[in-house]
Amino acid sequence: MGTDIRVHQVYAGRVLQGAGARALVPDEIERLGAQRVLLVAAPSSAEGTQDLATALGERYAATFGRPAQHSPVEVTAEALAVAREVRADAIVAIGGGSAIGLSKALAIRTGMPQVAVPTTYAGSEVTPVLGETENGVKTTRRDPAFAPGTVVYDPELTLSMPRGLTLTSALNALAHAVEALWDTEASAATRAYAVEAADGILSALPVVLGRLSDVAARARLQEAAWLAGACLAQARMGLHHQLAHVLGGTFGLPHAELHALLLPHVMRFNLVAATDAAARLARVADGDPTHAVAALAAMHEGPTTLGALGLPRAALREVAERVAASPYPNPRPVTADAVEGLLLAAWRGELVR
Ligand code: NAD
Repeated sequence: MGTDIRVHQVYAGRVLQGAGARALVPDEIERLGAQRVLLVAAPSSAEGTQDLATALGERYAATFGRPAQHSPVEVTAEALAVAREVRADAIVAIGGGSAIGLSKALAIRTGMPQVAVPTTYAGSEVTPVLGETENGVKTTRRDPAFAPGTVVYDPELTLSMPRGLTLTSALNALAHAVEALWDTEASAATRAYAVEAADGILSALPVVLGRLSDVAARARLQEAAWLAGACLAQARMGLHHQLAHVLGGTFGLPHAELHALLLPHVMRFNLVAATDAAARLARVADGDPTHAVAALAAMHEGPTTLGALGLPRAALREVAERVAASPYPNPRPVTADAVEGLLLAAWRGELVR
């Protein structure tokens, strides 16, 4: 047997795409043969949730409307009690990564099928991954059973995202694609997804930021985010996701803003050691990709530094040591000193030259 044979796991799901696609959710439920649907919904999706409940008619059982970031196990227990009380036999999650994370946590505990209707660009709907928090510690598990069997991408549901969330959530998606590009074991298929995702995000995001109600540009951005989510599912994530995992899980920092402000700093650190990724990204960015991403991240009107996000300066060393000690692939060797330097740059908001 050759030693250079690799296994590439891809996740085949059913994806519905297009403006108005949410109207097809009841058909998907019928296809699944489910009778009692639990809606897991972000509070921001109240209107869409109400419409969905009406459209499901007799198949609607209940709504759980309080998902939280990083899937705290206490919230899952509350939702599980509701699911059991109403004898739910399928879940429809409508919202961002938090609603979809809760749906995954319920599905793994009950075996219920899931239909995911994402309203941000986080990408969780196409991954077999769940990060759960218990007593302030975030643990990530990977299991094909986490991945929703059906995903409904309706760009109209992203129109309500304010400018800040639109920007930071799209950069969150871009981070999945960038890390897939410097994973030396990523397959040709994943690289193709990553390049298309990066191209879509870098070209559609400025258009959307110029006109938040542009459904066609939103659709392109959402499609790119789908491919970026597939990168997260298929490739090994490196330093960027490790940093976001430790910082987000330990200090409860807002997920998308954290990803957005870290990304240019990690790109500046890693791309010197990832020439193939750097070349591909330079082609789609039509110039220095780190500058392009830093310019987008700087457009955020909310916090753009770790300091502004509320991380104490004194925490940087401990985070650096934890991130340097965990095992994960990265194009450049990760030492605590190097990570502390990167974190300090992100804390101040000064990109290292
Ligand atoms: P989120 O789901 O926490 O949503 C952030 C806020 O935006 C919430 O207040 C939500 O109500 C609101 N919101 C969502 N959609 C909106 C819309 N269309 N219009 C207006 N407001 C809207 O944020 P997120 O960044 O999508 O997800 C973050 C969570 O997802 C984290 O817990 C993260 O760990 C997880 N995640 C997991 C994976 C995975 O593969 N397991 C991937 C990405 C993110």
